[in-house]
This record gives sequence, C-alpha cells and structure tokens, in this order.
Amino acid sequence: MNIERLIRKNIRKLRPYEARELKCRAKLDANESPFEFPELLSASLDVKTNRYPDPQGTELKKLAARRWKLKTENILLGNGSDELIYYLILTFGGPVMYPTPTFSMYEIIAKATGQKAVGVRLDRDFDLNTERFISAIKKHKPKLIFLSTPNNPTGNCFSSDRIFAISKATSGLVVVDEAYQPFASKNGFVPFLESMENLVIMRTLSKIGFASLRVGFLLSQSSVIEAVNRVRLPFNLNSLSQAVAKEVFKNYKVVMSRIKEIVKERDRLYRELKNLESVTPYPSEANFILFKVRDASRLHRSLLRRGILLRDMTSQVKDSLRVTIGTKEENDLFLNSLKSLVK
Ligand SMILES: *Cc1c(COP(=O)(O)O)cnc(C)c1O
Repeated sequence: MNIERLIRKNIRKLRPYEARELKCRAKLDANESPFEFPELLSASLDVKTNRYPDPQGTELKKLAARRWKLKTENILLGNGSDELIYYLILTFGGPVMYPTPTFSMYEIIAKATGQKAVGVRLDRDFDLNTERFISAIKKHKPKLIFLSTPNNPTGNCFSSDRIFAISKATSGLVVVDEAYQPFASKNGFVPFLESMENLVIMRTLSKIGFASLRVGFLLSQSSVIEAVNRVRLPFNLNSLSQAVAKEVFKNYKVVMSRIKEIVKERDRLYRELKNLESVTPYPSEANFILFKVRDASRLHRSLLRRGILLRDMTSQVKDSLRVTIGTKEENDLFLNSLKSLVK
C-alpha cells in the first residue's frame, strides 16, 4: 500500500516541525525560560484526573481577564498559541500573510490547511515595509495577517504606526502575536482592542517559564472569539495546565521578577556581543538575540560540541545564529566559548 499517495497533496510536500531533543549543558535554542517555578505546581495535585477538564476554562479566563483588563468574552484559551494560529486559519481561511523572516508556524499551518501563504519581506532594519505590505494586501486580499512583535527570530518590535497603517489597509484580521511582549520595553496592543475592530492579539505562557503547559490566549472582540469557538475542540486545554496556569496569574510577581532578570541578562549579553569584533548582534526586545557571524553554521556545530545549543538561522537570515537568554552561568559559558571560537 502506498501511504504517500493517500496523503492529501498539500501535505505531501510538508516536513514535520523539527524540535530536537539534545542533551546539552546550555539549551539556548528554543526561547524557553531557564527558570522553573516548582512552588506553583502544587495546585495540580487537586486535579480530578477522572473528570474532563472545564471546557471553557472559566476560572483561568477570569484571572487572565483581570490581568489584561478585559472581559472573559474577549478571551479564548488554546493549547499553546500554536493551536490558536491553527484555529484562526481554520475559521477564517486564507490567504494568510506574514512578514519574512518570522515565526515559521504561520506558513506551516496555512499550508497544512490548504491555504495560500504569502510572505512579505521586511526592510533592512527588520521593520515592516508598509508600501510592500499594502501592495501585497491589494494584490492578495488576505483574510489574516500575522505580525509577531517582538518578532521571532529578529528580536525587534515593529513600529506601531506601521502596524496601524497595515491594519487600515486590510479588510481582513490583523493578528498581533505578542509571545515576547513580557520582555519588551514598550506597551503591547491590548489597549487598542477597543478601537481597532480587526485586531486580534495572541499571548502565551511558553516564553516566561511554562512552555510545558501549552497555554495560549487569544484576545479580541467577542464576535471573533465566538467565531473561533466554533472550531475549537471542546477539551483543548487539560486540567493540569489550567490549574498551574491559574497559579501563574495569582503569583505573577515571582514570574515578573524572573522576566526582569532575563531582560537584564539580555542587555548585558548584547553589550558583550557588540564588543566582539567578528560578531554583529541585532537589538532585541525579546528573550533571545539574533547575531551575524562568519561561518555561522560551522560555529553552531562547534558550540554544540561544547554542549551549547543555539538555533541556526542561516536559512532565514544569512550568516546568523539565535541565542536564547539563559541563566548568568549559561550565558557566560556561551560567551566564553564564542570568544575562543571566533578568535
Ligand atoms: C514560540 C512562539 C509561539 C508559540 O507559542 P506556544 O504558545 O508555545 O504555542 C508563537 N508565536 C511566536 C512568535 C513564537 O516565537
């Protein structure tokens, strides 16, 4: 039997998302937090494992609503924001538009669901090129535009006025993916939800210490939430994750203090990288830094041999690697190895 022929045509060309599990001394490849929060896990012990989870995640939504000063009707919970991207595209369809380079899942999910995917190149400072975007909008008439700000893998925030201009030019939805917003110096887009009718925001717990829980939030006007709810699987967020996520909101101070530590380390790492002659780091508002370096792929392998795992970004941005901010010790281990390798 030929399984390959049985597969839908648009799926045949796809490759699975690579997320490698490698033993290493410093895992700095996936934009995770280096910090754990064991004190927040005890709530999971009260979970009744024989019962289905709360299908609405009511209590968690209430806490999220309080944090972002919204109503629960403006919030949808997802099994990570990846699932929310999937649901958005399932609900509204394509064309799906996004800048390049950016987070790869927008393109992957668009293609997996048989929708047209349109990438629009960023300008030289990795900001949105408004003219290029507006002409692409006129040509393709996208249903969804995904804007990750801060952007992964470049690390910068897009100019707000350019996001506003793009939002005015489209009759589709603008999805502002704020996975890294907790690390940014400026405010996010939540305050604009009331005035921008076509704005959708995604937030996640993954980058601030809870990647294993898979908890994402869709924030939007209630009609969008209601639409996406039609495709949502009834028990998409399990009880253990709901229980611990509630603790995250109740104890946001301890989470925040770790975020501040990471931001401080990011700024230190940036300065140190900037001082290296053969390395060019790009300014970052996220928990990672993209940097340009000669023989990037070879350097990636040399670092790995020393137990330091980075993300090789050369296929997206020429000669570049992405390093996630780790603990001070991990960052020093990386810096010292880098210094000796690029000498
Ligand atoms: C990591 C990442 C996500 C995925 O978040 P999950 O909540 O873990 O699914 C979404 N968007 C961007 C830009 C990311 O970098």
